Amino acid sequence: MKLPSLNTQILIAAIVGILFGWFAHGGEHETALYGASLVGTLFIDLLKMVLVPLVFCSIVVGIANLRQHQQMHRVWRYTLLFFISSMLVAIVIGLAASNLFKPGAGLHLAMFEGAIQQFEAKSMSLPDFFASFLHGLFMNPFKALAEGQILAVVMFALLSGIALVMGGAQFDGLRSLFEQGLALSMRLVGWIMQLAPLGVGALLFKLVAQQDVAILQVLARFAAVVVGSTLLHGLLVLPLVLWLFTRHSPLWLWRGAREALVTAFATSSSSATLPVTLRCVTQHLHVKPEIAGFVIPLGATINMDGTALYEAAAALFIAQLAGVDLNLVQQLVVCFTAMIAGMGAPGIPSAGMVTMVMVLQSVGLPAEAIAILLPIDRLLDTLRTTVNVEGDMVGSLVVQHMTAVRPRV
Ligand code: ASP
Repeated sequence: MKLPSLNTQILIAAIVGILFGWFAHGGEHETALYGASLVGTLFIDLLKMVLVPLVFCSIVVGIANLRQHQQMHRVWRYTLLFFISSMLVAIVIGLAASNLFKPGAGLHLAMFEGAIQQFEAKSMSLPDFFASFLHGLFMNPFKALAEGQILAVVMFALLSGIALVMGGAQFDGLRSLFEQGLALSMRLVGWIMQLAPLGVGALLFKLVAQQDVAILQVLARFAAVVVGSTLLHGLLVLPLVLWLFTRHSPLWLWRGAREALVTAFATSSSSATLPVTLRCVTQHLHVKPEIAGFVIPLGATINMDGTALYEAAAALFIAQLAGVDLNLVQQLVVCFTAMIAGMGAPGIPSAGMVTMVMVLQSVGLPAEAIAILLPIDRLLDTLRTTVNVEGDMVGSLVVQHMTAVRPRV
């Protein structure tokens, strides 16, 4: 018998978990709750297990795949500047929308009780935050990998990637080692996702059994906030940036980018869309192959506006559900980690959900909370991947324009 697709399985498991949780609500079901909690926690542990190797290899490979090129220094600089700025704008939109509409307000989840104390312990003043942020950047990579210090892992990955590019052929062996490491991590993610129906069902069962179902209403509100702000970024901000730099109209962009946008929406994967994206920018949007060949593959790995926006909005949503107010400093932490989580998420379906763990943990929120987001994740993934890919294409056009109009140095 052919099983339904994984998405369908997750959806069915979510519904079953919610229904059983509903029936169990208010009763004495210690054993069932114990079992559900065990299965759910194991699922989260598995995700945490694969997070560090996945993020590390994804960033090294993303950078190392780029060829070193004489004229490339300026292209490098503009590309990174564009990626970071556009993700920052996306994150600010996500944070602003969550602060404004407060989709998680008014519902307090019992499952987060333990998290509050941990959260209190993580609250820091601005100077303390910056000091610890800087100290956390560079670290013995083995210590960072072992302790899951994601920021230090990312820094080491970025530097290693750059060194691999500069070193050229002498590092071919290492490069293919990391490529294989990435392929291996992706395979592990694939296996873990096979368990997602079980994990999601168990976590939702526990959630609903201990909580009332008002959560569904709140979830719909959150989905609406994410969709609205992602559309704002994709339909307004990115076309505006393009127009400001290049005077190209949004219609020109969307007409040329159409195939890639539709593919991204259908596959929920920037990586799978990559060949189509390259074709669109070089053939329809007239980006030079050497610029497109640099910006687009790098963008498919690290430039994720939609993902970064989603992660920031989701962290705030979870904080609201946990009944804690994130102050300015904590929102800054969310801002940084959402950017890193976006960069560290490989361009595959639901990757953002895996790296979400680190955004939540950065401000002391429980990783278990992703169980609430999982049932709607694939749905939201379609749109955020489309905006991720749109951001890459706009990036290549802006970078081409910037490197053409300025005198060579
Ligand atoms: N699916 C997204 C992409 O491929 C990544 C994510 O899960 O946010 O761009």
